[in-house]
Amino acid sequence: MDSRGVEECIDVRDISELTKNYLGRIRLIVFDVDGVLVPRGTVIKQTGNRFYMDLKTIGKEEIKLMCSLSTKYRLAINSGRSLFVLLEMFREITSSVSFIYENGSATWNGGKVTQLVNPYIDMMRIRSQLTKIKDKKIKGWEPKEFLITIHCNDRVDAIEEVMKNHSRYYCLWNGEAYDIGNIEYQNKGIGMVRYRMRHKYYRDEVLGIGDNVNDTEFLDACAISVTADKIRVKGNFYIDESDKLPANILMRRILEAR
Ligand SMILES: [Mg+2]
Repeated sequence: MDSRGVEECIDVRDISELTKNYLGRIRLIVFDVDGVLVPRGTVIKQTGNRFYMDLKTIGKEEIKLMCSLSTKYRLAINSGRSLFVLLEMFREITSSVSFIYENGSATWNGGKVTQLVNPYIDMMRIRSQLTKIKDKKIKGWEPKEFLITIHCNDRVDAIEEVMKNHSRYYCLWNGEAYDIGNIEYQNKGIGMVRYRMRHKYYRDEVLGIGDNVNDTEFLDACAISVTADKIRVKGNFYIDESDKLPANILMRRILEAR
């Protein structure tokens, strides 16, 4: 316990140990999307100018839980997805959530967009080199404004070869796609901090949940971090794989603990 009677998170604990004592100062709860609020995996197909992508929706149960939680906490989404996709996914609950999107590139809050980065010129150059690559493993380019996301059946040597010449840009293979963005300023952690400062939340008022390597900086920027995959990313609390989505388990725990 600290001087204010609030327990500090030091060890990694099972989510069942997230009690009221930890939640005392929390005002903002931030969720990653894929693998947390919806299952991992994207169905995508591209043939010439024809593009197809399955849009996932948030389950009714999760929407209900988010509505309950939003009466006490501000909710935000921190995702690599584009704003267009997030608005569709969260259509029923956009009055209660904000978005930090495309790995911290911009935020959306009550209809207002704030652009945080401008990698346009570099990205145009990288894009023109990558579009020359023809490889059967490439399934399609996910439409994004600030990041490049190329879905592939497996790793593609030619993409990795091109990206070796762009040392200021990461090229992360996440098992289903390459995410390409600026190392210095396009990550979920920087986006989290800038959102939090703009909307006047202190770090110790934020709880975050993520499941992948690209959530590392995001979870580091939260007072309480929850990992839904403790092999890929560290957290103060962990949620083991089960038939329920990690966000569902976390939201139930918070509502019970209050
Ligand atoms: Mg994820």
